Amino acid sequence: MAVLPIVSRARQHGARTAVVDSSGTHRYDELLDLSSHVASALLGGRRDLQEERIAFLVAPGLAWVTVQWAIWRAGGIAVPLPIGSPPSELEYYLADTHASVLIFDKDNEGRISSIRGQAQLNAISYEELIASPPQDLPEIAEHRRAMILYTSGTSGRPKGVVTTHANIAAQIECLVNAWEWSSDDRILLCLPLHHVHGIINVVSCALWLGATCEMLPRFDAPTVWDRIVGSQLTMFMAVPTIYVKLIAAWEASSAECRATLSKHAAQLRLMVSGSAALPVITLQRWHEITGHTLLERYGMTEIGMALSNPYRGARIPGTVGRPLPTVEVRLTDEAGNDVSPGMPGEIIVRGPGVFQEYWGRPEATREAFRDGWFLTGDTAIVENGVYRILGRTNIDILKTVGHKVSALEIEEALREHPVISECAVVGIPDAEWGERIAAAVVLKSGSALDLQTLRVWARERLATHKIPSRLLLLESLPRNRMGKVTKPEVRAMFEKTAENAQG
Ligand code: AMP
Repeated sequence: MAVLPIVSRARQHGARTAVVDSSGTHRYDELLDLSSHVASALLGGRRDLQEERIAFLVAPGLAWVTVQWAIWRAGGIAVPLPIGSPPSELEYYLADTHASVLIFDKDNEGRISSIRGQAQLNAISYEELIASPPQDLPEIAEHRRAMILYTSGTSGRPKGVVTTHANIAAQIECLVNAWEWSSDDRILLCLPLHHVHGIINVVSCALWLGATCEMLPRFDAPTVWDRIVGSQLTMFMAVPTIYVKLIAAWEASSAECRATLSKHAAQLRLMVSGSAALPVITLQRWHEITGHTLLERYGMTEIGMALSNPYRGARIPGTVGRPLPTVEVRLTDEAGNDVSPGMPGEIIVRGPGVFQEYWGRPEATREAFRDGWFLTGDTAIVENGVYRILGRTNIDILKTVGHKVSALEIEEALREHPVISECAVVGIPDAEWGERIAAAVVLKSGSALDLQTLRVWARERLATHKIPSRLLLLESLPRNRMGKVTKPEVRAMFEKTAENAQG
């Protein structure tokens, strides 16, 4: 393969708008030109970076895409770092990847001051790199490593997930086909760019097709509504907490303003939710407000997207649909055998989008695969061919008085309670019960709730063994940068406040 497909495709779209950001509107040929300057600066006369790791801390926008493409074009492995990470975390990513270069933009210069002087790390500003004259760029074979993204790391230190150019192309292709992307699309990015959701599903899919990606530096509900009204968007993708915040902002608006927001949102052709379970009440409320039934999908850093509700056809609330094109999915028991129809099992995945390895961790890589199938660590069931996620096997599948129950299913039921605004269910080890069902709950303002009242209410909705026997009232749930509830932290809160918790 002579030229990376994302580059050869961009050449066909030269005059079209690729990126819109706070600095203006940018065409594909500008992106190609800038990335050839940055690639040349990184090469500094060498033929090929030979998979050197190049880390970058750059705000979402033209510069971010330029740097990513430049690293690829020069033969390096792109390591996008999470903005807002404390220095110790950044140091961990830089050390784990043995990154030789750290690229930063003006906005992030202050964040790297303490790590800048480290030996073996060349910290260079984006502004300096674009000034370099262009040189010939190497040919990059598709089997070569392209990117390292760090997993959220709920157990142990985060692992670097390595994808090749071919993996990335497959992850993009399956989505552009399933969701019928075209060059006329215009999508808004408001997700962070250190995660598969923003990088692949939003930015890379848009730029694969000659579509336009409007990029915000960060999520902010009023700004997103403003762009929905003012920007002729056709698509929008976000995590469930973003939809919750957009709903809150809509509800806080005047009646006249609400009508305008709803009218413009209704004009998009597709709105997608993923990266965490979408509460059914959020899906329903979004439908009331915008007329959209959010398309919920399931995926992971290691595999890209695997399951999706249909673009055309009925989307079933509380489910993540069927396998995407080219993705094979099975549900297996602990012995690795396929489960009987209707029984829960671990999701295992095979396909061209599945990652190559955990960076520098051959043992972890070996353990993550069985006979070429990636073991996701998520449990699901299939009903009429449609998958429903029950949660992370080691966190959300609770073993209590001889039953296995899904924390996500209990959360879904508790959200129906009139004073509960958010909740997270975890299992607390218990000598007698195995695990006790423990619910951390955020109440609607001005409300009160105690365990006894909750248990009486829950009797109508949940089997006895699924009813929480611990309750913790919180101001907010602990979440990571992607808005996912960090369940180990919730568990720790129960343990810490055992004497104060009711039950
Ligand atoms: P990450 O690698 O950070 O994208 O996290 C992937 C994990 O998020 C999966 O292994 C699931 O546990 C969870 N996840 C992603 N999408 C969904 C979904 N639609 N419903 C429930 N969990 C999801």
